[in-house]
Amino acid sequence: MTTEIERTPGGAIIMNGAALRDDTVLRLRAEIESMGLGYPTVCLATVLVGDDKPSQIYVRTKHKKAAEAGMTSTHVGLAIDATQAEVEDTVRTLAADPSVHGILVQLPLPAHLDTEAVLDLVPAAKDVDGLTEASMGRLMRGRNGHVPCTPKGVMRLLERYEIPTVGKKAVVIGRSSLVGLPLAVLFARKGVDATVTLAHSRTTDLVEVCRDADIIVGAAGMARLITAAHVKPGATVIDVGVSRTESGIVGDVDFDSVQAVAGAITPMPGGTGPMTIACLLENTLEAARMLGAIPPAPATNKGR
Ligand code: NAP
Repeated sequence: MTTEIERTPGGAIIMNGAALRDDTVLRLRAEIESMGLGYPTVCLATVLVGDDKPSQIYVRTKHKKAAEAGMTSTHVGLAIDATQAEVEDTVRTLAADPSVHGILVQLPLPAHLDTEAVLDLVPAAKDVDGLTEASMGRLMRGRNGHVPCTPKGVMRLLERYEIPTVGKKAVVIGRSSLVGLPLAVLFARKGVDATVTLAHSRTTDLVEVCRDADIIVGAAGMARLITAAHVKPGATVIDVGVSRTESGIVGDVDFDSVQAVAGAITPMPGGTGPMTIACLLENTLEAARMLGAIPPAPATNKGR
């Protein structure tokens, strides 16, 4: 990474996800360019049902960053009242299209749609969000497959800032299949080797649970849930949560108080959000490899 290590006024290392995302985009672009001519352009397809503004912004950003990484992208936008059959047909068409390598269905889908039935139609190799049953099963079994982007982004930040995980205590707050649960599995993997506690809304005494941790990840979506009282001096604190409040977008971490105690901390924004997109693009390149559309990865590029 090109940038210097920055610190908060309290001395905590700032885990700069935006800078690491930019480096990742450049690395992916270089990998794609190094393949030379004769291969298809790596292509990400997105599907968005409805006109939710934040979702539209997320999808636009994904396309912009895909282009910067030297990929193409295609988008299918469906009306908010699209039927289950229309959404399923869209995904089936993309699944069968050999020029499409990664498929991302922007979630959540409107309530009248059956999300699981839609995700079931995404082939495991094209499941760049890593959220289908097949990808989650592969993650649990330690088999080769796409890892969900936000948890993977958290691991990439820990790697980049050389935060030790082996034998360390990690607390993940939030147990969704999108973020918390797969992240807990990643922390427990051989090679990462943390001892993990998975906290949720029924956890009693969250302060007590967190105060002993070397690494805390907030993925609850509760504004400023994690305060200095939760944090052991020198611990690493990673903020995944996004809450829209009257004072703007707020994370799960009370940054001002926590930065004075933590050893390393993610900013909000500019921490885990950009890394989610970086890992989506990593997964898209990997999808093209899994499909045999492009040559295998260079030996040095093994993720955890
Ligand atoms: P979710 O499905 O609503 O899950 C939230 C989890 O947090 C649940 O497991 C819930 O517990 C737990 N929780 C809620 N209140 C809690 C509390 N007071 N104490 C402890 N645990 C509590 O949300 P999600 O999809 O996992 O997303 C979590 C947050 O991350 C959201 O703010 C979302 O916007 C954000 N997000 C950010 C990114 C990114 O790139 N930075 C990506 C995805 C999501 P129960 O299971 O007991 O209900």
